[in-house]
Amino acid sequence: MFDDLTDLYQQLILDHSKSPRNYRVLPDANRTAHGHNPLCGDNYTLYAKLEGDVVKELTFQGSGCAISKASASILTEALKGKTRAEVKALFDKVHQMITTGQTAGDLGKLDALAGVHKFPARIKCAILPWHAALAAVEGRGETVTTETEDT
Ligand code: ZN
Repeated sequence: MFDDLTDLYQQLILDHSKSPRNYRVLPDANRTAHGHNPLCGDNYTLYAKLEGDVVKELTFQGSGCAISKASASILTEALKGKTRAEVKALFDKVHQMITTGQTAGDLGKLDALAGVHKFPARIKCAILPWHAALAAVEGRGETVTTETEDT
C-alpha cells in the first residue's frame, strides 16, 4: 500500500511538473494572488475567474520546484467548478493530508499528495499553491508566503 502510494505520488508529480495543466495567464481573471516560498524559491501567481460563488477558471504561472509546480497544476484541475465554500473545505482536507500523511480517501488523485509528507522539506512547496489559491478565491488578493504561515 505504502509503495503503491509512493509510485502514484511520483508518477503524478512527474507528470504534472513536466506538463503543468492550466499554466497560463488568465486575461479575464477577477481574482489573483501570489504565493512565495523563500526557502525553496517557489514563486507563483494564481489567476481565478469567479462567477458569483463559483470558480469558473483557475490558472497559474510562475516558477519553482517540481513539487510546487505539480501541486499547483493539480489544484487548478481540482478546484475548477467549485464554490468558495467547497474550495475552503478542500483546502483544509489537503492541508491536513500533506502535513499528516493521512489520505482523506475520497479525494481521487489528490490523495497522492499525501506522499509529500515523507519529504518534510517539500511540505511547504506542496501547500504553497493551495494557500495562494485560497487567497485568490477568497478575494484577499495578497501575497502569501510560507514564512508567515504555520506551513
Ligand atoms: Zn519548492
